[in-house]
Amino acid sequence: MVPRMATPGPRREEGLAVGAGRRFHGPAKAMRSHVACLLALLIAQPCARAQAAPDAVRPFRLGDVRLLDGPFRRAMERNEAYLLSIEPDRLLHNTRLYAGLEPKGELYGGWESGGIAGHTLGHYLTAISQQYAATGDARFKARIDYIVSEMAQCQRLYGDGYIGALPPRELATLRGFAKGVIQPWGPHTFLGGSWVPWYTEHKVLNGLKDAWILGGCAQARDVALRLADFVDTLTAGLSDDQLQTMLEVEHGGMVDVLVELYALTGNPRYLETARRFRHRAVLDPLLARRDELNGLHSNTQIPKIIGEARSYEATGDPQGRQIAEYFWDTVVRHHSYVIGGNSDDEHFFDEEATQAHLDAATAETCNTYNMLKLTEHLFTWEPRVEYSDYYERALYNDILASQDPELGMFTYFMSLEPGLFKTYSTPTESFWCCVGTGMENHTKYGAAIYYHGADALYVNLFIPSKLTWRDRGLVLRQDTDYPRGNTTRLTVLSSPPAPLAFRVRCPGWAAGPVLFELNGARLDVPGSAGTFAEVRRVWKKGDQLKVTIPMAVRTEALAGPPGKVAFLYGPAVLAGDLGPGPRSDSVPYSPDNRTNLSAEPVPVPILVLGDQPAESSIVRSPGEALQFVTSGLDHPRDITLRPFWEISYNRYNVYWNVMTDAQWSLRGISKPLGW
Ligand SMILES: [Zn+2]
Repeated sequence: MVPRMATPGPRREEGLAVGAGRRFHGPAKAMRSHVACLLALLIAQPCARAQAAPDAVRPFRLGDVRLLDGPFRRAMERNEAYLLSIEPDRLLHNTRLYAGLEPKGELYGGWESGGIAGHTLGHYLTAISQQYAATGDARFKARIDYIVSEMAQCQRLYGDGYIGALPPRELATLRGFAKGVIQPWGPHTFLGGSWVPWYTEHKVLNGLKDAWILGGCAQARDVALRLADFVDTLTAGLSDDQLQTMLEVEHGGMVDVLVELYALTGNPRYLETARRFRHRAVLDPLLARRDELNGLHSNTQIPKIIGEARSYEATGDPQGRQIAEYFWDTVVRHHSYVIGGNSDDEHFFDEEATQAHLDAATAETCNTYNMLKLTEHLFTWEPRVEYSDYYERALYNDILASQDPELGMFTYFMSLEPGLFKTYSTPTESFWCCVGTGMENHTKYGAAIYYHGADALYVNLFIPSKLTWRDRGLVLRQDTDYPRGNTTRLTVLSSPPAPLAFRVRCPGWAAGPVLFELNGARLDVPGSAGTFAEVRRVWKKGDQLKVTIPMAVRTEALAGPPGKVAFLYGPAVLAGDLGPGPRSDSVPYSPDNRTNLSAEPVPVPILVLGDQPAESSIVRSPGEALQFVTSGLDHPRDITLRPFWEISYNRYNVYWNVMTDAQWSLRGISKPLGW
């Protein structure tokens, strides 16, 4: 399909990072740096982008949304400190070494010292570019420019467009493809143990693309496009069969990033190259609406679907949309835990057998990172509350929950084994995939709070923030302690003199109609759960819209046989706090992402109910904290339940065995286990 060229302009998150909240570091120096940054951004603005499928709504640029104090801003600040603690020269160690240059910093440990070396540098480029776009902090701009200049130097030495830190074995595998040498050896390696070279190169290419678009680094454009040309050269001569054989090994989001480069440059060569990475063995069943995901490696597949979503947007090919929508429905409805994550030991499984999949290796965090990305695409095509509800669920209960509040470290698996605890990465000796995506996660919390249509603002998430909608002259502040409180206040700081609709999400889980007050007076707006409620008017400075979202404790049953439920309150999954977890050299921080797989869980209570539903026996504790206790259940002591994201080091339980009195008496045991 011949692409239609759209008018220039931002499509997703690219663009200038200016506006309220920009931080300066020393007046004169910072101002010079500020001007330099703006110039760099202007130089780097793409001249045209291919966009064939119209969006129903559009996201704001990261720089248009500033987080205000709350758990998300605090998570972003912790991550910022970690990003600044990373030494670019250490991350560049192998990039320089394999290019024949003396490294300037010591090699980091963990996955950075193995066959996947260099993947972190790509993630890091994306993370600091997003951080820069979101905050305008010149310290990140300096790092972006430095890293890209180092990469450009190494790329020149290779001479064929390649850039990366692949060890010789992995690079030889990549170059061998051009000669038709394609020998998969399992889903993650080629013959000889060569580890996912395309996966790693995707991170590098994507990081360079983000350094160009979000980081305003013009040099990154050249380096990225040379690398994309290299990818084209390696794969151009391969037959369809050879390509499909190559794609049996995990290859990250190659389709996504190459389509994005096509969209940014209008060069059809990148679209052609992207299409060589469409893995039909996975995509064809999805197009035919067949769920054949069981047994597949989850995080290998999700980026392929994001590629389909991006292809639909760039070319208008409806198959991409069909695949993306079917996949999203299937994964969210049939392959996800209550926290929004999926997979056990990184693989999809039969939902009827979910009870056998509550262990320490559940819910790889990368999967949720990618599912959120996919959801962002789907929401712009059709702003359904269902998409937002999933996004919110996964954002709070998996992404926010994945960060360690002491050091800002990252989970790999989000254990759902009853009575276990979380394991986090170390600052310098882990560098797992989930550390890379984790670095990105906490820089983009502003991405999905608001969207806009032609004459409507969508208030999608209830996160304290300030929005500047420059095209419409609207500045809005959102204040809330949600979900501890059940209200949010939208205050108009400036507004255009024309009617504008605020469409406020009424979550599908709301325990009653969402209520609206304008400047203290109740509005007659239907706030049915699962809809966007609209308030349209000519807004004036100082207008305040108060939104009240009824919340109640509710249960969600685990898929499969009855008898296991999780508790939720509003967007929060409530986990039972089972007391302090162990502390040792490898707990909770470990270079090994599987440390807690061998740990002993503590016994977990079975909840024995009377005639009442379980949720009626969960009572909120007095005080400001979002904390609940069980009450009236047949046990000798109560359980404290807290939001899953607030339990960082203690042991916990998410899914509870529940029984009626009658079921319990049939067991012939006098006391529930663990009491
Ligand atoms: Zn991962």
